[in-house]
Amino acid sequence: MNDASLNGDGPIRTDVVIVGAGPVGLFAAFEAGVIGLSCHIVDALEQIGGQCIELYPDKPIFDIPAIPVCTARELIERLMEQCRPFAPPVHLGQRVVTLAQRASDKRWLVTTDNGLAFDTAAVLLSAGNGAFVPQRIALEEAPALEGRHVHYAVRQRSAFAGQRVVVAGGGDSALDWALALRDVAQRVTLVHRRETFRAAESTVREVKRAAADGELDIIIGTLAALNAPDGVLRSVRVKQIDGATTIEAHHVIALYGLVAELGPIAHWGLETLAGRVAVDTSHYESSRPGIFAAGDIAVYPNKQKLILSGFHEASLALRKAYTYAYPEKKRVHVHSSYDQNLSERILGGEAASP
Ligand SMILES: Cc1cc2nc3c(=O)[nH]c(=O)nc-3n(C[C@H](O)[C@H](O)[C@H](O)COP(=O)(O)OP(=O)(O)OC[C@H]3O[C@@H](n4cnc5c(N)ncnc54)[C@H](O)[C@@H]3O)c2cc1C
Repeated sequence: MNDASLNGDGPIRTDVVIVGAGPVGLFAAFEAGVIGLSCHIVDALEQIGGQCIELYPDKPIFDIPAIPVCTARELIERLMEQCRPFAPPVHLGQRVVTLAQRASDKRWLVTTDNGLAFDTAAVLLSAGNGAFVPQRIALEEAPALEGRHVHYAVRQRSAFAGQRVVVAGGGDSALDWALALRDVAQRVTLVHRRETFRAAESTVREVKRAAADGELDIIIGTLAALNAPDGVLRSVRVKQIDGATTIEAHHVIALYGLVAELGPIAHWGLETLAGRVAVDTSHYESSRPGIFAAGDIAVYPNKQKLILSGFHEASLALRKAYTYAYPEKKRVHVHSSYDQNLSERILGGEAASP
């Protein structure tokens, strides 16, 4: 595998940019290494694993060839282990936002919302249902307050020191942060639409005990209005079954979970069908040569949204991607069991962390 190189301050030059570090993106990184392509993986989330880690880490999976049963988390760990000999660089917490083709040599320029840029021969979209983004507060006054008074994640507990904080949501994140912030905030109010919570039993017990002992408040209801005259949040109105109440608040932290959103990919001029990228099934290439799609984001007749299908799609896509990266070379197929280079790479012990 060729090392991707940095052109001074310019874009990172590589053979393939893999958009999405779900199971298909991780397997694609392994296949790229086998074929002799350099690659970089980018994911909007802070952790690898896509749906497997985000939605069902502890559920068993039964339909991965040669693994009769494993949890989704174990599958991701095994995929990481498999691509480790090729040490593919992984850039987390950033979304790929733009794609443009250079007229002179037909290479692609890919950028992320965190300022990374890649100069690449091909792009493999293994972006699932799109990037996972926080589910936002459905109130028209919320976007203007985002970042200052409305938050969808907590980066620093100290930012809320001495403040009145409303934490909205009923899952593990909401309950964990309500508990963690009660020590620094002036007052924490947990707002959830139901009496029951979707969090670990021990966390629910601790939140209820904290509320009973007056360490925080719990209000059952939904956010109805953010009162922010002059753009400064003063209070939050909560609608309840039997009326409404107003809570004094400086900050609202909404932790409603994540939703998938195709986002920027929808504006790249690719042919799409029902919100997915249409591909031809000989190479899983999109309507734009050099841009491939594999896994849940790819659509074609009789498509099955299975991890297994994504592995196959990525494998064929990368073989065509090779022809864009090395048009002058002819790739000869060798079974992995006879591939001396591969054997040395994988069994030779020069492992590095992805
Ligand atoms: C509850 C549940 C159980 C399932 N059980 C099975 C099963 O038993 N067997 C099976 O085969 N399948 C199962 N599936 C389906 C399987 O999880 C999906 O088919 C698989 O995750 C698709 O993998 P992927 O890599 O294509 O996409 P994903 O796993 O969705 O990963 C895509 C990644 O791309 C990232 N991304 C998207 N857009 C961007 C962008 N613009 N920039 C940066 N990053 C981006 C996302 O953040 C995400 O991490 C199950 C699904 C669910 C929800």
